[in-house]
Amino acid sequence: MASAKERAQKLAQEMRDAIRVARTASARARKAGEEFKEILAQVEAEAEVARNVVEYPSGRYECNACHTPVIFMETQREFPPCDSCGSRRGFSGPPPRVLEVIPPAPRKFSAGLYECKQCRAPLALVEGSDTLAPCEFCGATEFRAL
Ligand SMILES: [Zn+2]
Ligand SMILES: [Zn+2]
Repeated sequence: MASAKERAQKLAQEMRDAIRVARTASARARKAGEEFKEILAQVEAEAEVARNVVEYPSGRYECNACHTPVIFMETQREFPPCDSCGSRRGFSGPPPRVLEVIPPAPRKFSAGLYECKQCRAPLALVEGSDTLAPCEFCGATEFRAL
C-alpha cells in the first residue's frame, strides 16, 4: 500500500488537474455567454421579421432551394411552392414591404443571461418567457439578470 505521503501527493496532483479542467471549462462558458449576448440582437431581429405582416413586391426572384429564377407578376402575400423543385423554402428577391409591425407579447423575463441567486450558475434564455425553469444545478428558482 502507498504511503500517506504518496497518497497526499497524488491528491495534490488531482486537485491541480481538476482545477485546470474547471478553469478551462469556465473560460469556455464565459466565451459562450459573450457570444450568446451578441447573437441575441439577431434572434430578436429574426423574431421581428417572422412576426410582422409583409408582402413581396412583383419582380424577379430566385428559389431558395434550387435557385431557379422566377418572375412574380403580382404582389405576393405568401410565396407558393417552387414550380421547379416543389420546395417551400421561399424565394429571394426584392426586399419585402412591411404592412404591419406586430409588437412582441410582453414577457416577465426578456431573453438574455441570468444567474442563479443561490449557486450563481448561468442561465441563458433564448426567448422571452413568463417563467424560468428551476436552476438545473441546485433547483433554486430565484434568478437575477446579468
Ligand atoms: Zn426550387
Ligand atoms: Zn443554482
